[in-house]
Amino acid sequence: MKKIVVLRLGHRINRDQRMTTHVALTARALGAEGMLLVSSDKSIEQKISDVNKRWGGSFYVRSDVKWKCEIKKWKESGGKVCHLTMYGIGLESEINAIRDIKDLMIIVGAEKVPAEIFAMADWNIAITHQPHSEVAALAIFMDRLQKGEEHLKDFKNGKLQIVAMRRGKKVKENKNLKHL
Ligand code: SAM
Repeated sequence: MKKIVVLRLGHRINRDQRMTTHVALTARALGAEGMLLVSSDKSIEQKISDVNKRWGGSFYVRSDVKWKCEIKKWKESGGKVCHLTMYGIGLESEINAIRDIKDLMIIVGAEKVPAEIFAMADWNIAITHQPHSEVAALAIFMDRLQKGEEHLKDFKNGKLQIVAMRRGKKVKENKNLKHL
């Protein structure tokens, strides 16, 4: 997998702030290079840029995009599109084919998803056929897509880096280890 981008549809500024932030944090932590947001919500961009400063990496949030032209552009450049929806085909039967894709756009909705998305996507993939959440669907899908190897991704130039501990917390801050 060369590049993964998440397209977040239907963000409602006064209702989806937390959920959309969690979509971005999940996409970032599990290896996507950025999130395209269909609404103009600069606060999400700011939040994620603060996370990058603190924990590293260069994950981007580009807001106020037009989903139709982003999908078209992506496909014209050879990328493929996977829409996560409970109405789709079960993940198991398609995951091997999707793993072979170099550039993958993953679409998650919020409110009702336009029917056109189902037609434009190369795959409509269900993580069970029950309604749950875009964050859960994205996390399971990205983990299965990368066979759990997303943990190998490192985040350069962050102020902080976690040192894995069986108990307690340890954070590396520049050169010193600081017990929290
Ligand atoms: N009611 C909306 C609709 O019917 O289009 C969807 C609301 S759902 C809470 C928000 C998003 O979570 C969906 O657009 C989809 O991307 C994701 N999602 C929820 N359940 C899912 C499932 N079982 N499989 C895959 N994605 C799911």
